[in-house]
Amino acid sequence: MEDINHTEHMQHKVLVIEDSPTSMKVLSHLVSKAGLEPVAAANLTQAKHIFASSSPEEYLCSLVDYNLPDAPDGEAIDFSIQSFIPTVVITGRLDERTRDKVLSKDVVDYIPKENAQVYDYLSRLLSRLEKNKSIGILVVDDSRLSRSMVTSLLRRHNFITYEAADGEEGLTMLRQHSNIKLVITDENMPNMTGIEMVAELRNTFSKEDLSVIGVSGKGSSALSARFIKSGANDYIAKPYCHEEFFCRVIQNIEHVENIDAIRRAANVDYLTGLPNRRHFFNRVNANLKMAPKMVTMALIDIDFFKEINDNYGHDVGDHALKEVASLISKHFSQYYISRFGGEEFSVFISGVDPKTTYSWLDSFRNDVAEHVINYNGHSFKCTVSIGMSQQYNGNIEQTIKFADQHLYKAKQSGRNQIAVSA
Ligand code: GH3
Ligand code: MG
Ligand code: MG
Repeated sequence: MEDINHTEHMQHKVLVIEDSPTSMKVLSHLVSKAGLEPVAAANLTQAKHIFASSSPEEYLCSLVDYNLPDAPDGEAIDFSIQSFIPTVVITGRLDERTRDKVLSKDVVDYIPKENAQVYDYLSRLLSRLEKNKSIGILVVDDSRLSRSMVTSLLRRHNFITYEAADGEEGLTMLRQHSNIKLVITDENMPNMTGIEMVAELRNTFSKEDLSVIGVSGKGSSALSARFIKSGANDYIAKPYCHEEFFCRVIQNIEHVENIDAIRRAANVDYLTGLPNRRHFFNRVNANLKMAPKMVTMALIDIDFFKEINDNYGHDVGDHALKEVASLISKHFSQYYISRFGGEEFSVFISGVDPKTTYSWLDSFRNDVAEHVINYNGHSFKCTVSIGMSQQYNGNIEQTIKFADQHLYKAKQSGRNQIAVSA
């Protein structure tokens, strides 16, 4: 059950309110580099005109200069916030008073026009705001007021927010929404406390899949330690300032994202996006530990693939590999598949009788043979040969070997066919 925000695909504009032409040029460039569309306003009046004639829903955020000719003391910031746009303040002033004044408003962040690094930070912030639109954060607290304070902070950064009034409700929310990457939880709640909930959810979600920040009251360092020991990634002590809160949130979200990126790189074939051979074996072996009754291992090899490369070029060959891979995904996504290597793929199915798996593989083979590949002005078809094995005597390497021998037979017998070892 995923939440789809219907406006999110339209949010590709960034309103830049800035009177200095030099700064405007730099900021517009950064926005374009982030794949977004800058809309320029040189003062508050122009900004108001722009919003009068277009829908604020089209905007991802706004970058607002603190000091403008017709808005000398942050009035443009208030305008942007009142239009419900996540607002990032840019300013040349660095005094404490200005900083405190800006941070007391509902802004996303405050960026001084200091040096080049600031712009680096800004471009990271822009891509963060874009990514946040698909990330869910669950806030667990029995106080409705505390919950809505935290969720409104989070929504300012474009996160999708969920609320639960106690640990039990929190666990239910987690089961329903797979886009939740971070849980922020209070400790003292009826039914199930924060710490009990953390301990419970760790049975299902690892620290790498789901970050948890425990919120502890003033001066209770023992509670912070208990949160960490029960499986929380981090804790934050009340009262906290908004800057600290967001630093912790982003750090914990990035932890989950980094692990996910590393996992993907390690398990996925870069060209086709299919699991790689190593990942395939890991998953098949895990499945075989559950002692399935019927197994089918199929090796699929593209026929005369070298000719595709030779006739049309290597990038057309690459494209053909991607198309065959997506047909494999289409037919067998519920089972175990991989790019086994080169122009060879594998499929492993357990718990389905051999006659059925044969007919599935044959209909896949037929689908490939009829599929026209169009790329770079070339149009052609290709076929696959399949070696299938149903023998498993506790050694998966042996099963693969049988499949490989039968793949060879399928090639010998004229290709575009399946050969089976029963
Ligand atoms: P057969 O029907 O006997 O399988 O003939 P074939 O030409 O498909 O088999 P062969 O093993 O002779 O050639 C496979 C070719 O696949 C050789 C290799 O250059 C090419 N190949 C392997 N990986 C890639 C890749 O990632 N991209 C491209 N474009 N070609 C690849
Ligand atoms: Mg081949
Ligand atoms: Mg081959």
